[in-house]
Amino acid sequence: MLETARRGAHLFSTNTGGSKSRMYTCKEAVDVLLEYLDGEMTPELKAKLEAHFSGCQPCEEFLAQYRATVGLCRKALEKRMPESVGERLKSFLKTNISAKTG
Ligand SMILES: [Zn+2]
Repeated sequence: MLETARRGAHLFSTNTGGSKSRMYTCKEAVDVLLEYLDGEMTPELKAKLEAHFSGCQPCEEFLAQYRATVGLCRKALEKRMPESVGERLKSFLKTNISAKTG
């Protein structure tokens, strides 16, 4: 008599409801960066974002560069950084990331 091989017992393990606690992706981090720097972010999201930055070198470097730029702009203009500057920085990072991750 044939013995049935026991394989694939857990092929259909459910994987639902886990999306809330996942980390930000780089793109998401950049998308909310302006809110983060403007202090318009909830503590919860802020912690989540900082957790990403602390483990992601490209984002960390970008953040340092971004902060320096924003600081200079604020000093000079005494107001918010122009949106065009933020957009340029964002596209800069997105280009870097997409080149790395495909
Ligand atoms: Zn990142």
